[in-house]
Amino acid sequence: MKALRFYNQRDIRLEDVDKPMPGDGEVLIKVTHSGISQTQVNEFMEGPYLINAISNPLTEEPTPLIPGHEFGGVIESVGPNADPRLVGVPVAVLPRKNCGECEQCASGHENLCQNLNYYGLVGAHGGFAEYAAVSAKNIYPVGAIDTSLYSFIEPLLVGVNAGRQIEDRIQGSKILVLGAGGVGVCVAAVLKDYFGGDVTISDILPFRLQKAGELGLKTLNQADLVCEYDVVVDCAGSDPASQNAALFEGAEYLKPTGILLMLGSYFHELSFVPFSLLAKQIQLRTSFAYDSYAESKLDEVLETLEPDFNVLIHEISLDEIIDEGYFRSEVDKNGFVRIVVRP
Ligand SMILES: [Zn+2]
Repeated sequence: MKALRFYNQRDIRLEDVDKPMPGDGEVLIKVTHSGISQTQVNEFMEGPYLINAISNPLTEEPTPLIPGHEFGGVIESVGPNADPRLVGVPVAVLPRKNCGECEQCASGHENLCQNLNYYGLVGAHGGFAEYAAVSAKNIYPVGAIDTSLYSFIEPLLVGVNAGRQIEDRIQGSKILVLGAGGVGVCVAAVLKDYFGGDVTISDILPFRLQKAGELGLKTLNQADLVCEYDVVVDCAGSDPASQNAALFEGAEYLKPTGILLMLGSYFHELSFVPFSLLAKQIQLRTSFAYDSYAESKLDEVLETLEPDFNVLIHEISLDEIIDEGYFRSEVDKNGFVRIVVRP
């Protein structure tokens, strides 16, 4: 089958590899939708930071890894000890694989598992391929929703985890989400529709802001932002060539005692003046991936969501993934919101 393989920084190759066989308890998915997230682009530009960069007892696959952690498709076959009735079922992949035995897993923080794996990102092949074999524990049947939403399931779970980190401050607060890429709009939509927050989203890229508006989100240009927010959520991340980061810029828009919630992945050093946080007694919080609680709320979240995420999607083929996916993501962020690969 055709698959993209990550070898190293700026070294990804579209290759012919063996079609995977579903192992014990696994299902084989014919991938139909696979989103390119900024994290994957950062891995390509600055990494590897997550893609098999750490020694991990759960890591089954050495580099080169097939990236892509926001994907889904239709189950084509099942391995031993997986339910044969799953064949033909459309599913999104829940990419987090945790050990279930460490202290973090035992306390419900599976996203912080000491042996964390993630399909398409850490230790297990992902969705930039025609097929992917994943554990039957890591699938979510999406029969009731539009199949094009497969690649939004993981960012929506990330949004639930983010909401949990600021749950004590959502009611009565003004919340600003910085960054209207795929993750930013999902986080904003979950905070608004599921958690009932008063949410505004902003981006320096006009096309992305326009699309966020089409989703029904309240938008503001960066130039119009003022210091009036109780919570700022950074979903922007930053370019490795830039010292500017939405993360610390966000502190400018926070009222005293506000919360700065970090979601964007930064893999490089940034310069900032810590007094900008201290002088307003700002709390810095972080939200990483998602835990089992977020998974348990996924049905409810999908029921409450109002936006039609289809307006965000720019589809490309697997053959185009290097030029029209990764390279374009690096240089032309204003031309799209979410690139979805259709193998
Ligand atoms: Zn664990």
